[in-house]
Amino acid sequence: MIITIDGPAGSGKSTAARKLAARLGVAYLDTGAMYRAIALATIEDGVSLADEPAMLAVAERCAIEVDCGPTHTRVTLDGRDVSEAIRTMAVNQATSFVARTVAIRKLLVEKQREIGQSLGSLVTEGRDQGSVVFPDAELKFFLDASIEKRAERRYQEMLADGEEASHDVILKNLEHRDGNDRCQWAPLLEPESAIHIDTTQMTIHEVVERLAEEVGRRSSIES
Ligand code: C5P
Repeated sequence: MIITIDGPAGSGKSTAARKLAARLGVAYLDTGAMYRAIALATIEDGVSLADEPAMLAVAERCAIEVDCGPTHTRVTLDGRDVSEAIRTMAVNQATSFVARTVAIRKLLVEKQREIGQSLGSLVTEGRDQGSVVFPDAELKFFLDASIEKRAERRYQEMLADGEEASHDVILKNLEHRDGNDRCQWAPLLEPESAIHIDTTQMTIHEVVERLAEEVGRRSSIES
């Protein structure tokens, strides 16, 4: 079964997807990590983020492998483990330039479909998984939460990781990312057939319970 989870930045989709995949014992595909790995390669190659053909050349040249867990995600770039290196602020910023390059999106959409086909069952998470990449997925979720709550979650995550964090900076960053998400090149779309879950008042445990409930319901209909 292919299960897609889409939603805005900070909606809790990554944690929910990872935990749901672990619970079901299937793979978890973090598609954001693929965009991030290309962004890292672009930075390391000194390519201008305004030069789309050069960024595409980097994307075509580099070998990105994603080990889909279910209990972990490891990303390698040309054989080197970059799972941590793709989480820096510099990579965050470069990723939005990579993600707006249509030809790179096409490349990654193809790669994600190949992964889906070879694994058969997976929980995949991003912003276009139910709408563009796997329109025929058996089960689609769209997670959302208020921007204040999303900022608060990011803030707490960063504190827990021992990183310096400012609530206001995170909120501004999310507003900026929401703006990008609404723009033309890859709008965050909510598929009509997706189950919409507002996680503002929910704990991650409750979100995963809710997702698992829906999977159970769908499986019993299919069997
Ligand atoms: O989910 P994550 O924060 O790692 O995603 C990083 C960025 O990659 C997003 O802000 C978005 O710009 C881009 N992305 C995308 N399409 C996806 C996944 C991520 O454009 N399917």
